[in-house]
Amino acid sequence: MNRDYDEAYILRTIDYQEHSKLIYMYTASGIKSGLARGVKKMQSPLRHLMQTGMLLSVDLSKGKLPTIKDAEMLTYYKSIKEDLIKTTIVSVINELIYYNVSDHDDHQKLFQFIKKVLDALSLSDSPLEILNVFELKFLYFLGYGIQFNRCSACSKVEPLFFDSHSGMVFCEEHLEHHQHALDKEAFAPLQYFLHVDIEKFKPLNLDKQKHQRLQAIIDDLYDVHLSARPKAKKILKSLD
Ligand SMILES: [Zn+2]
Repeated sequence: MNRDYDEAYILRTIDYQEHSKLIYMYTASGIKSGLARGVKKMQSPLRHLMQTGMLLSVDLSKGKLPTIKDAEMLTYYKSIKEDLIKTTIVSVINELIYYNVSDHDDHQKLFQFIKKVLDALSLSDSPLEILNVFELKFLYFLGYGIQFNRCSACSKVEPLFFDSHSGMVFCEEHLEHHQHALDKEAFAPLQYFLHVDIEKFKPLNLDKQKHQRLQAIIDDLYDVHLSARPKAKKILKSLD
């Protein structure tokens, strides 16, 4: 068989006319859109597949607005869909990808990473930590990586402090915002989340207060570097 199918992860769907949907997919070559004709009709074979969070193999027609001719399910992520927190985390991830990736990004790499994140999220009992891993690695992917190993001003390697005001690491001498400083022990979880291989991730099981403090730092980093906070973030907060 010589089929021209693409692996695609559905980020977003929008109702289109009476029976169709516009589908926004993330693929190894970036975000693609396609029209799923008649997909809202009861008898449509693609009806159950054209939903956010599905990993599919799709056959797209050529042209400016391609039509989705056929699709097969690769993964349904059942345990994510059965869990409200995990589902909301996926909404956060989908929004972040949809609004922040650009044509020049390494989509091959990000696509493989997202699949690993979804697998980890499916299995994890600490889904909020998985989101943190995604958030810090995604910032790094977009060019806003944090240099944790040495002072950002002089390359001194210790003692180091993370300045949550600037999102940078400094030595004692170059640290300016002392009231925002975290010592090495306090910022170690952020460093772990950024550097860990997601396939080998072991949850830190941080207590709620500690986790909320780190989450606030990550949210601040996003506010500094990216424009809008995902809407699903608010829902996630209300659930936690
Ligand atoms: Zn320094």
